[in-house]
Amino acid sequence: MMKREKGLLIVLSGPAGVGKGTVCGALRNQNTAIEYSVSATTRKPREGEKHGVNYFFKTREQFEQMIEDGKLLEWAEYVGNYYGTPIDYVQETINAGKDIILEIEVQGAQKVRTVFPEGVFIFLAPPSLKELRDRIVGRGTETEDIINERMTVAKEEIDLMTMYDYVVENDKVEWAVERIKAIVTAEHCKRERLIKKYKELVEVEK
Ligand code: 5GP
Repeated sequence: MMKREKGLLIVLSGPAGVGKGTVCGALRNQNTAIEYSVSATTRKPREGEKHGVNYFFKTREQFEQMIEDGKLLEWAEYVGNYYGTPIDYVQETINAGKDIILEIEVQGAQKVRTVFPEGVFIFLAPPSLKELRDRIVGRGTETEDIINERMTVAKEEIDLMTMYDYVVENDKVEWAVERIKAIVTAEHCKRERLIKKYKELVEVEK
């Protein structure tokens, strides 16, 4: 296997409730070589969530300090809470030639696109808005007001699909996972990612 230069920065985004967490979890269970970025948030932990595994849970003051210290690759305020991607782990991972996936909402994805245009941007789409609402309600963790607010945000988010490289419909988790794996494989075969290496090989032969 050829030595890779940098790993891929893969952004998996899309409306909340579309199943980004479930799809990411299923991908993780398959033990692919992909690493996962753990975000910081000021949201309170849901039942079963663990600090350092699901999120780094922070106070607003701590989070604002991280922003000020330049410790976040991107951050966004989403339904009253801050969410952000710690930059160090992302940089270390891709510099070590490993791929990393960021599961983030769309404002954050837009920011990453501006600072890291060579990233791979995947939009996870719901089969329908009704299905999306059913999933948020089914999770049973949100109040009616929050559900309505999230649905309004979700409709705006779907309009932003045009800024992504790929759209993966989450009709079935296993199928969505297979599509994402296929995208990652295809990205590794892209000419522009490999050409430098081949040019170097040819140079050595000369
Ligand atoms: P939840 O509160 O349901 O865990 O997440 C709410 C939304 O925030 C989801 O769409 C999730 O993908 C997004 N999110 C999680 N971590 C980050 C992050 O680091 N940055 C941004 N911009 N969004 C995030």
